[in-house]
Amino acid sequence: MSDLMIEIDNLSKRFGNHVVLKDISLKVGRGTVVAMIGPSGSGKSTLLRCINLLTIPDGGRIRVGGRTMQFQNGHAGRMHEKDLASYRATTGMVFQHFNLFPHMSVVQNVMEGQVTVKKVPKTEAREYAMELLTRVGLRDKADAYPDMLSGGQKQRVAIARALALRPEVMLFDEATSALDPELVGEVLSVMKVLAEDGMTMILVTHEIAFAREVADQVVFMRDGVVVEAGPAAQVIDNPAQAATRSFLARFNGATK
Ligand code: ADP
Ligand code: MG
Repeated sequence: MSDLMIEIDNLSKRFGNHVVLKDISLKVGRGTVVAMIGPSGSGKSTLLRCINLLTIPDGGRIRVGGRTMQFQNGHAGRMHEKDLASYRATTGMVFQHFNLFPHMSVVQNVMEGQVTVKKVPKTEAREYAMELLTRVGLRDKADAYPDMLSGGQKQRVAIARALALRPEVMLFDEATSALDPELVGEVLSVMKVLAEDGMTMILVTHEIAFAREVADQVVFMRDGVVVEAGPAAQVIDNPAQAATRSFLARFNGATK
C-alpha cells in the first residue's frame, strides 16, 4: 500500500462565477500532520469539505486510503449513496462549532454514529465511547449533557465522536477558533496526542505556534490556490513566497 494516505489532484470548485478552489493538488503521507493556513476566504474550509464530500468538487480526483473518486461537472462519478456514506466514515471531521446533539448525553453523542452508521451493537458502542472519552479526559462527563460542558469540553467530545467511526484521517476546521483563550490548550493537547499516536491529520488553524510544533507540513493557501507548501519549520520560519511572509507577519510576536 502507498505510504501516501491522501492524494488530491487538480481539484476545482466554484460557487456560481466565483472560483474557490483552482486546480489544487496535495499529497499527505500516512501518519503525517498537515496544517493549512491562509487568510479568511482562501478556500481552506471548502477544501476540507471536499475531502469529506460535504461539498462535491467540480473536477479533479481525491484518493483517501483505498478509495478514489473522480469528479466531473460536480458529480462524484458513479458513486452511490451507500459508497458515499462509507467513504465519509473514513474521514472524521471536527468543526469550529461543535455540533453536538443537545438532547443526547455525552456518551450517547459518541455512540450515535457507531450505532447508526456502522451498526455496532449498543453495548460495544458504549464500551468504545467510554474508551474514547477516557482518551480525551472526559470519562467522568459521560452522562452529562452538552449544555453542562465548557466549550473546550464540548470540542473534546466532538473529537471523540469523530474518532468513534474509526476514521483513517481526521480533518479539523479551526477547531479552537470559537473557544475562550483559556480553553484552547486542552483541545490542542488532545490533537497533539492524536498526532503523536500516528493519526493522519489535516488541520486548518490560526494557531501558528501549534502548527509549527505539531505539523510535519504546512500549506499556505490564498485565493483558492496553494501558494506554498513544505516542512513546517521551513514554511513558517523561512517562507519562500512574499504572500506567505506577509500573512505570517501578522502573527509575529504571538508565535513565541
Ligand atoms: P476559508 O475557510 O479559507 O475562510 P472558505 O472555503 O470558507 O474559505 O470560502 C472560500 C470562498 O468560498 C469564500 O469567498 C466564501 O464566501 C465562498 N463560499 C464558501 N462556501 C460557499 C457556498 N456554499 N456558497 C457560495 N460561496 C461559498
Ligand atoms: Mg474556513
